[in-house]
Amino acid sequence: MSKRDYYEVLGVGKSASKDEIKKAYRKLSKKYHPDINKEKDADEKFKEVKEAYEVLSDDQNRAHYDQFGHTDPNQGFGGGDFGGGFGGFEDIFNTFFGGGGGRRRDPNAPRQGADLQYTMTLSFEEAVFGKETNIEIPREETCNTCNGSGAKPGTKPETCKHCHGTGQLNVEQNTPFGRIVNRRVCNHCNGTGKEIKDKCSTCRGTGKVTKRRKINVKIPAGIDDGQQLRVSGQGEPGINGGPAGDLYVVFHVRSHEFFERDGDDIYCEMPITFVQAALGDEIEVPTLHGKIKLKIPSGTQTGTRFRLKGKGVPNVRGYGTGDQHVVVRIVTPTKLSEKQKQLLNEFAEVSGTVPQGEHEESFFEKVKRAFKGE
Ligand SMILES: [Zn+2]
Ligand SMILES: [Zn+2]
Repeated sequence: MSKRDYYEVLGVGKSASKDEIKKAYRKLSKKYHPDINKEKDADEKFKEVKEAYEVLSDDQNRAHYDQFGHTDPNQGFGGGDFGGGFGGFEDIFNTFFGGGGGRRRDPNAPRQGADLQYTMTLSFEEAVFGKETNIEIPREETCNTCNGSGAKPGTKPETCKHCHGTGQLNVEQNTPFGRIVNRRVCNHCNGTGKEIKDKCSTCRGTGKVTKRRKINVKIPAGIDDGQQLRVSGQGEPGINGGPAGDLYVVFHVRSHEFFERDGDDIYCEMPITFVQAALGDEIEVPTLHGKIKLKIPSGTQTGTRFRLKGKGVPNVRGYGTGDQHVVVRIVTPTKLSEKQKQLLNEFAEVSGTVPQGEHEESFFEKVKRAFKGE
């Protein structure tokens, strides 16, 4: 079941002030309070109103809701079914989810337009730093020639005389069990309840035309794979004067050859030589914010992790910036020159076959002792 828009629940506009929201909440919570209202769904309505108020009365939650809609961006769409290999801002266009559906209601009642979903592929860096871009989406718009009525200018749609404007027909059938009345969508008006004698030539009577429309999208820094952004009011137009649906942009973020991302943190591996590890050194590490110098202390073991504070991804909700974690891997040389071999042999001679612990028994000595059965 799709959740109702919080603004719709409270019956206020998207730009409503805090005061207006408070007033609407007071009015509706009184109306649906289970102690006062004994209707069957009052309890549910009361909860719905309460939830809407809790979100919209809090500045941060409201901003978040305006930006992302009902779905928590951390849950996203699961992200499983995105194919790879889209170049640049190439898009896959998926039509509607939610909106419209449900039981058949009065065909003339205003209804919110369907939501649209648009999948956008971002590079790793674009997701980290955000960007502003224009996307083009095909969507149905109200026909300008007939203002959405579907009737030729100067004429008006008439009430369908088959269903008398209800959009439904009762079909009576005589069966061995008696007479059965079935309701079905009126096939003369396709359930709209209206009949158009002179159709608008631009939209052929549908009242809608498909147009490609440019929409400016501001992608916040720190967006992650599978997360979505809501662009309010940019979905399909409303029906019978209802509000437009929303556009949901779902992001697919390409992986990076060097960095790995986990939430707001970045991970990478840096190879170092065993000489650097033993003697210590200063190495250059690439970060998303440019190269920085990292001090490797002498005696560093392979797998040691260094934290570069604040060198990760800015949090999409504005809660600071993550860190970069650098794991060093000691690379054992595979090709040695004669001179190198000679030096290493000398090194082994002066240090013994195992490294000497200064005070404590070294790990190697423990291993050796274990095998002797001491
Ligand atoms: Zn009809
Ligand atoms: Zn038209």
